[in-house]
Amino acid sequence: MQHTLKTSVTFVGNGLHSGAPARMTVRPAAAGHGIWFKRTDIEIGDSMIPAIYDLVERTPLCTRLVNEAGVSVSTVEHIMAALAGCGVHNALIEIDGPEVPIMDGSSVDFVRGIMTRGVRQQAAPVLAYQVLKTITVEKDGASATLMPADGLEIEFTIDFADAAIGRQTRRMDMRNGSFVRELSDSRTFCRRADVEAMRANGLALGGTLENAVVVDGADVLTPGGLRHADEAVRHKMLDALGDLYMAGGPILGRYVGEKAGHSLTNTLLRTLFETPGAVRPILCSPEQAALLPGQGLIWSEIPQVA
Ligand SMILES: [Zn+2]
Repeated sequence: MQHTLKTSVTFVGNGLHSGAPARMTVRPAAAGHGIWFKRTDIEIGDSMIPAIYDLVERTPLCTRLVNEAGVSVSTVEHIMAALAGCGVHNALIEIDGPEVPIMDGSSVDFVRGIMTRGVRQQAAPVLAYQVLKTITVEKDGASATLMPADGLEIEFTIDFADAAIGRQTRRMDMRNGSFVRELSDSRTFCRRADVEAMRANGLALGGTLENAVVVDGADVLTPGGLRHADEAVRHKMLDALGDLYMAGGPILGRYVGEKAGHSLTNTLLRTLFETPGAVRPILCSPEQAALLPGQGLIWSEIPQVA
């Protein structure tokens, strides 16, 4: 069955790229509502932005949703991953600024907030998107694939010259709370060499060593070091879960990302939905719903982070 939050939960902080402060409140919503953002600081024009793949602007460093009135919200992927991973299908996310607060760079604060409020079951089955054909998209040596599978699986490979990251591969089945347990506390990361270039382009203005893992060759500059030896690839899997949730519901399929980013995963979703016979919406049976993330969440399994 579909789920929403029992009560609202609020998060406050600055955006990673804009540095802009924002107060974000995730509210319960009716069955069939889906995930929507509402810019409460926009007084003229359409402030409602559905979290759907064809409103994603394909920017390389974060996922930005833009509605037809040109109203946008940026860096939605980590709250989307938390909602997907906690099995929240319906929510209205009110935000009074242009960018979702980055928190600690992972999804763990969002997960803890959602699970503190709890979720409640609604009187409608989950609408999921079942992958029927294998679809692959490629760009600049990166690739992203979706193929048929009973549940949702995510596999990712990254390969960086910096020895602190190097080549990392991980494959996970997303059922039974594995997102919360294994991925939710993995933080966004970047190379020190890229920080200046991003700032020169007006990005990462809110980035600090407290909300991103910064590496320089073999060194991890962030105090306390890594939370997992392969934190970087785990974060890419977190991003993929959030970006895939922009399908409009959970995906039943296997995702394989090789050096992929937000933009390529969005191209994959667009191609999937444009390809005749590649995907179909289904109302999940209890057996299918049991294979989705959000089933089997256990409070004590939320990672404890400093
Ligand atoms: Zn991310």
